[in-house]
Amino acid sequence: MTERIIPYWKKEIETASREVLAEIQLMGLKRQIENALKTPFYSEKFRNLGLKSGDDIKSLDDLRDLPFTAKDDLRRAYPYGLLACPRHDLVRVHASSGTTGTPTVIYHTREDLDTAADTMARSIFAAGGTSDDTLQNMMTYGLFTGGLGFHYGAEKIGMTVIPTSSGNTIRQLKFMKDFQTTVIHATPSYLLYLNEMMENYGYKRSDFALRMAVTGAEPHSEELRQKIQKTLDIEVYNCYGMSELNGPGVAFECVFRQGMHLWEDRYIAEILDPKTMEPVEEGEVGELVVTILCRNAMPLIRYRTRDLTRFIPEPCPCGRTHRRIARFLGRTDDMLIINGVNVFPGQIEEVLLKMKGIGANYLIVVEKDGALDKLTVQTEVTADMFADDSRILNKLKENLRAELSALITINPQIEFKQPGSMMLSEGKAKRVDDRREKM
Ligand code: ADP
Ligand code: ZN
Repeated sequence: MTERIIPYWKKEIETASREVLAEIQLMGLKRQIENALKTPFYSEKFRNLGLKSGDDIKSLDDLRDLPFTAKDDLRRAYPYGLLACPRHDLVRVHASSGTTGTPTVIYHTREDLDTAADTMARSIFAAGGTSDDTLQNMMTYGLFTGGLGFHYGAEKIGMTVIPTSSGNTIRQLKFMKDFQTTVIHATPSYLLYLNEMMENYGYKRSDFALRMAVTGAEPHSEELRQKIQKTLDIEVYNCYGMSELNGPGVAFECVFRQGMHLWEDRYIAEILDPKTMEPVEEGEVGELVVTILCRNAMPLIRYRTRDLTRFIPEPCPCGRTHRRIARFLGRTDDMLIINGVNVFPGQIEEVLLKMKGIGANYLIVVEKDGALDKLTVQTEVTADMFADDSRILNKLKENLRAELSALITINPQIEFKQPGSMMLSEGKAKRVDDRREKM
């Protein structure tokens, strides 16, 4: 990589020594325990453990003795069981994108939102976003944090923000051209789709001033990033977040794009073996468990994200001391067990994206076939491939089947679909249809 200037939002905190970060974390943890004791949910839990005040926490190791909080706890605490401040101090409510059952809601005070915007600004800045940029935020605005959460961070930097929200691709492209948008924020599946649609709607790359995309909200492979970077000639940055943790910007890539810095002055991260809930060796994959330090209205202690990642132990060339986490493998509940073999949708995506002629959308279908499981991969092919003769398509199908079975040791069925024929969801892409339980 050529020499580049490393942009810091607040250098002192971003490059603070590990000792200073540990002090900040300990103070933050005490404060959060104090806050948690004000909530109906934690006060009962902690009273049973004999925990009466934040000062009962003497060192960061004490965190290991505290119980976990899970998504179901949030549902049980719905709507206000986790409230740690007077109701009139609340200024906004968000909810997780889950579409079924009792929603998990998150509430914020004015100060909480200011801190969240600052974390987001720090993240976008680390990736090289500046006040000269025009940002088109293609994430859904509303209860989902990808809209407003990102929006306020970008405004804080002074970017020109166009809140187009998701969908309406024709308008997205028109605005991108007319306003000479330089940065977009979108899900990886939408980035792929947008990439295909540019040409379909008659645009040329030179119509746009696009230089960078920020993507997240769903697992995606390095291959997807490479493909978008290459075809659009832009830089693509990975951003991790979840509504329970204040939305996007919990961890973000710096200009080196080799893993995401997790902001350790605002979150305490543990990576644990999801079976034993004991720490994995540094650098091994496990479930990310997070204690939030930067929200007063609603504390969360040892929150089980169910997301699988690992710490990258080596220091980053950018000089930031906050540890990096690697691209997510998926969620503990995403892993498919097909005929006894563990398969992550991301592994299949990697293969699909490497193949020339494969289009933007795909769906993994798992069904029962007698006693066995059957795996079918439905995928769009590109327009030129679809127009070609069937022998070429058959060859592609054979190659794809061979590549997939070499990687996941299961021989899948492949079904090709016409370009643009598979439904694209406006929010997170649905990549798996597991029909086994329903059969
Ligand atoms: P949910 O999807 O749980 O209803 P959110 O809308 O807050 O709630 O989404 C958070 C989830 O999105 C994370 O737990 C994670 O699974 C996924 N996610 C977010 N960012 C990324 C990313 N950069 N890479 C992979 N997965 C991500
Ligand atoms: Zn870095």
